[in-house]
Amino acid sequence: MREKCGVFGIHNHPQAAKITYLGLYALQHRGQESAGIVVSDGSNTIIHRGLGLVDSIFTEDVLSSMPGKFAIGHNRYSTTGSTSPSNIQPLLISFFGEGIAISHNGNLINAAEIREKLESSGSIFQSTMDTEVIIHLFTKLTKSLGRKQAIAQALKRVKGAYSLLMLFNDVLIGARDPHGFRPLVLGLLDSSYLFASETCAFDLVGAKYIREVKPGEMIVIDKKGINSYTIEKPKKISQCIFEYIYFARPDSIVFGETVHKVREKMGRTLAREHPAKADLVIPVPDSGISAALGYARESGIPYGIGFTRNHYVGRTFIQPLQFIRDMEVRIKLNPIKGVLDGKRVVLVDDSIVRGTTSRKIISLLREAGAKEIHFRISSPPIKFPCFFGIDTPVKKELIASTHTVEQIREKVGANSLGYLSLEGLLSCVKNPENFCTACFTGKYPLKVKPQTKYIFEKKGRSVAVLSPKKETGTS
Ligand code: AMP
Repeated sequence: MREKCGVFGIHNHPQAAKITYLGLYALQHRGQESAGIVVSDGSNTIIHRGLGLVDSIFTEDVLSSMPGKFAIGHNRYSTTGSTSPSNIQPLLISFFGEGIAISHNGNLINAAEIREKLESSGSIFQSTMDTEVIIHLFTKLTKSLGRKQAIAQALKRVKGAYSLLMLFNDVLIGARDPHGFRPLVLGLLDSSYLFASETCAFDLVGAKYIREVKPGEMIVIDKKGINSYTIEKPKKISQCIFEYIYFARPDSIVFGETVHKVREKMGRTLAREHPAKADLVIPVPDSGISAALGYARESGIPYGIGFTRNHYVGRTFIQPLQFIRDMEVRIKLNPIKGVLDGKRVVLVDDSIVRGTTSRKIISLLREAGAKEIHFRISSPPIKFPCFFGIDTPVKKELIASTHTVEQIREKVGANSLGYLSLEGLLSCVKNPENFCTACFTGKYPLKVKPQTKYIFEKKGRSVAVLSPKKETGTS
């Protein structure tokens, strides 16, 4: 599974590019494939984008050559469109001499149809990203409707998930789809407004968190101040519960709650639902830490550290030594031997996707001397793919869609396996009716056509990664 996209933007700050760089740095967990920043001095716009991690793309020299007080940035991990330089965001276009930039987190489920119509009437696209249709819709409408109305109308036509930022010289706009799938927050640094996917980006730059951008809301910040508009009345609110389970950083406030606290509750609930007789509770670092702490506190079993994690593993790591079994896992995690010898261990992780990593981790624990391994997962079994911004494998690769819990236990090699129930999970969040849980239930908040995920690809052209057609479980 992959995650997708962090966005950040700032209005009227003398160090706009540097602050945006720091914001993206704090949001690196939301996407490691590519990053980019667009900065404007009010009339001239500069863009710098690249493949890789934020700190490798933006050197001191690059940032120093990006003057301007207005900026937006983006971290990407693709869910639509291929890994090619033309697909790195922000997207920047020139329209009647004005630079228009856009950064988008989420997935649009009707982008393929819109694009087809636009191309039929002569539009030329520069990328294979769903995001680009928003720009085309906007440019067609802006002359007759004016900027704000044109954005609102363009956004009304797209369906799916968007938390997005747009920059028009000295005007910064933030908008969130009426279902509120992905997070987007508003903050203030001195007198400069900021937007970010998560509040951890505000913490790093010393900004104050003001509030969430509401589902269906568009906030426009210009030299006159800040104004809020309703693009569409909020529809069935469908915040992504996976933000709490895995994506968001534990120190962020997402959908109004601190992520770590929600995860800890999940761990406590898990301990009540699936107790175990054990000597030690250990997390899979880092994803299981908060839930493991909750499990330990609720069960009274001591919390311990069973692994050391190497945080410096780059995505481009080449595996030169094929004879080292399970090398990808060993590169990242190493069990601490003295701690595990002869112990009955509760191992806590946030989720099982394909089951392959979990199997390797459990085998490392056995090698390190653990006597029993009781595997506890702080989410229900993931059985259905996501179409709203999380790049899940196709259904048949999700182990829980084809295996029972007992079969999964056997496959991963644990002594026992317990998943948090859906009811248990929902009991840990405020306003549980406001969450999308389609990855567990298959009940999608919007109708998804089977082809949705496989847009923009034409035979023989390498413009997107295709998956088989019949993989969606829509309802
Ligand atoms: P596996 O055993 O191969 O299913 O991998 C399970 C691990 O994948 C868990 O540690 C999860 O934290 C992690 N995981 C869950 N969702 C994602 C995601 N979207 N991207 C990367 N890793 C994920």
